Amino acid sequence: MSETYSVKMRASSDGRHVSGAEKIVPVGSVSKVASRLVERALSHERGTPDFINVKIESLSSDILRLKALPVMTHVVATPAEGRALAARLLAEAGIANVDEIMVRFSETHSLRGAMLLDADTLERLEPDQSRGVRATYMDDAAALAKGTAGVKNHYAEAIVLATKVQNAPNIIAEICVSDDPDYVTGYVATRELGYRRITVLKEKGDPNGGRIFLYRGPRDGVAKTIEFLEKTPVLVDDVPTLSCAANAPRRFDGLADALDARQAAGLSRRCRTLEGPTGPTAIVDGRELVVFASNDYLDLARDPRVVKAAADAANEFGAGSGGARLTTGTQPPHVRLESALAKFKGSEAVLLYGTGYMANVGAISALVGKGDVVLSDELNHASIIDGCRLSGADVLVYRHGDMEDLDRKLGACREHRRRLAVSDGVFSMDGDILDLPRFLEVTRRHDVFSMVDEAHATGVVGCTGRGLAEHFGCELPDVLMGTLSKALGSEGGFVCGSKLLVEYLRNMSRPFIFSTAPGAPAMAAALAALEVLVAEPGRVAKLRENIALFVSELARHGVSVRGETAIVPVVVGDEKKALAASAALEELGFLVPAIRYPTVARGAARLRVALMSAHTPEQLRAAASSLAKILKS
Ligand SMILES: *Cc1c(COP(=O)(O)O)cnc(C)c1O
Repeated sequence: MSETYSVKMRASSDGRHVSGAEKIVPVGSVSKVASRLVERALSHERGTPDFINVKIESLSSDILRLKALPVMTHVVATPAEGRALAARLLAEAGIANVDEIMVRFSETHSLRGAMLLDADTLERLEPDQSRGVRATYMDDAAALAKGTAGVKNHYAEAIVLATKVQNAPNIIAEICVSDDPDYVTGYVATRELGYRRITVLKEKGDPNGGRIFLYRGPRDGVAKTIEFLEKTPVLVDDVPTLSCAANAPRRFDGLADALDARQAAGLSRRCRTLEGPTGPTAIVDGRELVVFASNDYLDLARDPRVVKAAADAANEFGAGSGGARLTTGTQPPHVRLESALAKFKGSEAVLLYGTGYMANVGAISALVGKGDVVLSDELNHASIIDGCRLSGADVLVYRHGDMEDLDRKLGACREHRRRLAVSDGVFSMDGDILDLPRFLEVTRRHDVFSMVDEAHATGVVGCTGRGLAEHFGCELPDVLMGTLSKALGSEGGFVCGSKLLVEYLRNMSRPFIFSTAPGAPAMAAALAALEVLVAEPGRVAKLRENIALFVSELARHGVSVRGETAIVPVVVGDEKKALAASAALEELGFLVPAIRYPTVARGAARLRVALMSAHTPEQLRAAASSLAKILKS
């Protein structure tokens, strides 16, 4: 590593710090990185600096490699909550007096470095108390490997710093709050907990902030700790990225800004990895959680019969289908599944799609077009909305579940060529069931197409899980859409209808025609799941028992919710409160997502509890009581 350099930039205006950054780079990138750091200093939003110092040094000593602390974000609504959470986390590191420590941020404000505090006596330990301790000579190893280091990724920089600090001798924790009055997010870090980002740690407008390193050890060890922080060069591996904007060219700036705006509004989203097979529990970020968020309502995705069917089909037919259904993609499992689904739903014919989303988009956009009209419930699923938009038909939105409004609006659009009324059968964010008999009465009286989405009804609604027609004892709508991806534990979508309708879609529906057929393993898995469902209707009954138990347990704790289906919404209202409640539940071991705008209306954020037949009574009771407790506090 003799060809490696440290490049540091500090910029100030009127003696006030404006911007600073440092990189560890190979010799070939030194000048490029130096000039990019200067650009960064000159374009800082705090203003143009009058002094920029760039320091370039060769790093002769060996560079220590460290693995990045694991990162976790806790979303909280208020500074009080954030501080309470920080206190709880730090208590695990044996630090009791977090409130007294937080007060010290009024002193760190003027420091260029961090405050080094004795974790127990809260005495300041660093010899130069007007400057503090500066953790320096560190970088993200991946940036070095790429040759040209990213120069604008505060998130990665913070993790690199926190990782170095937690590896310093006798440091047991760090608390960091930004000194930017508008930036309220901060973190606590310990070696065991990792880097715990807390979305709100101070009031907006509060200029106090900085870093506090907590030391526990002999006084004669302080010098060694400071030496490590200020002198030892460190490269950190596996730094996770939040913003991928770090190295992006200019034309991507708008994308990064849009993401930042989402983030600032508490609306940014991320994928979380659930380890192990889909089921009522999962390992998330290293902890086992009880999952109240899965659409695998009947626990069929990991059922050995279902899994074996998929494996056998992969062996027999291959992993992928190799073509669209109309060319080379139709294999025996596709044909078998279509006829089994038709029998199960009691329809003449069925057409499979790659996903439920495609089934909705494909059916609606084939049935109606320019000059036609679709009447759509205001709470319909996004895939229905997208199908309506793509179709080019006029779209009239009627009030949720309001058949009189539907009736009135149908009466007002008689001049359109084709008319289609479409509704979720079970509304995906509210869990309520469409009044199918009335929907059919209105649509037939007006002689318009009726379409119902049974994504959350199949396997759930009706004594044996056949859906709304079974539940109400009525006929099927003209177009019945469903998915294989929820209670059937696989993936793919389908549309049931008359032979005429299905033949029409087979010829006219673009997502069916122009997309590769779903693979035989997924089809065989869905078929096996359907067979289990038919053979074991007790699963549907068990799910219903679980719903009743959960709702009555919540009621016992004073929370009243609707329990018509496996989706039990607990409306909180405020987005950040919903996020905070979800985070608090996760702390207690329950995965219950907060659903926010744009999935639901602004101010109608909620916890969306999804129940499974496989949840145990103990899990349901514990979740209900925790949820009630959190809602009250
Ligand atoms: C999940 C869902 C879909 C989409 O089904 P996928 O198979 O996941 O693409 C369509 N409609 C509703 C109501 C859904 O909840």
